[in-house]
Amino acid sequence: MKAGILHKPHTPLSIDDVDLDPPAEGEVILAMAGAGVCHSDYHFMDGHMTPWKTPWGMGHEGAGTVIEVGSEVQGLSTGDKVILSLDTMCGRCRNCTNGRPALCENNPRVPVTRMRTGGTPIYHFRPTFAEHTLASADACVKVPDDTPLEKACLISCAIITGVGAVVNRAEVKPGETMVVFGCGGVGLNVVQGGVLAGAGQIIAIDTVDFKLEKAEEFGATHFVNASKEDPVERVKQITGGGADYAFEVVGFPAIVRQAIESVRPTGSAVVVGVQPSGQEVSVEGWHLLQDRSLIGAFHGTARPRVDFPWMLELYKQGRLKIDELISRYRPLDEVNQAFEDMKAGTVARSVLVFD
Ligand SMILES: [Zn+2]
Ligand SMILES: [Zn+2]
Repeated sequence: MKAGILHKPHTPLSIDDVDLDPPAEGEVILAMAGAGVCHSDYHFMDGHMTPWKTPWGMGHEGAGTVIEVGSEVQGLSTGDKVILSLDTMCGRCRNCTNGRPALCENNPRVPVTRMRTGGTPIYHFRPTFAEHTLASADACVKVPDDTPLEKACLISCAIITGVGAVVNRAEVKPGETMVVFGCGGVGLNVVQGGVLAGAGQIIAIDTVDFKLEKAEEFGATHFVNASKEDPVERVKQITGGGADYAFEVVGFPAIVRQAIESVRPTGSAVVVGVQPSGQEVSVEGWHLLQDRSLIGAFHGTARPRVDFPWMLELYKQGRLKIDELISRYRPLDEVNQAFEDMKAGTVARSVLVFD
């Protein structure tokens, strides 16, 4: 089968012929149906995040159909449709039983080498830029047979990371004000999370006008182009002193600082963006003294087995936008063009589709 492999940072992905092990105990193999091209993938390529090891099997957002089932797998059979969670969920540890399975304490978070290209081992978790992928059944969320996987794949990362940061982590209440720094695939979902939560003002900030236009489509109420005006000052003007919540969805320490400076005393800045490996975030201490909070939100504090079916239900009812997120479908061998589109800021999300 074919898979998109990063052989070295700062080089394009290569589409390699890859051999995949059969599923071990507790594992399944999925035939991928759709894989979103997420900025976090690009972070491995541009050095923002240190890749675990190379060659690296790329992609983390996706959905597919079970084609092989290993021993001791419960609740999944060949032909089942699933959306991948970013992480395995044991269901028994403290975080899993406390409703925080995205941070399962038994998730090994150590890459494996169950794929090979020309005899060379490839490091990976559950790579979605691949025709087939091995996954722990504990990372698979079974969804109804009529689920359109080439769309629902975005629930796996972009949608839950954004919506979940608002409803699961920040718990924004009706009428509260919020500002979103960065309106890419995840940021747009922070905006629509705000709509679902009944937020009052939802201020979208970006440097790319196309993304601000998309933010309006997703329900933002105010727009600031940060390359033309000071976002912190504008947020204070619009909200009359600062927002209740600021979401940092870009992944830079300087923007985390802007986020905390944009919230009123008692407000919260929520770090959603993946920060550069090894870099520190600094904020003025006085901001924290005024009862402001600086918190992180990993993967939308997701409870995938609860949240994914909920997101699908909202989509079916026309209350969650997915179609509008997808700017372009491409085959796997055009993955590098999808990254070019992302860098150019001309797409909200590209989705790789498989025959
Ligand atoms: Zn992602
Ligand atoms: Zn667990």
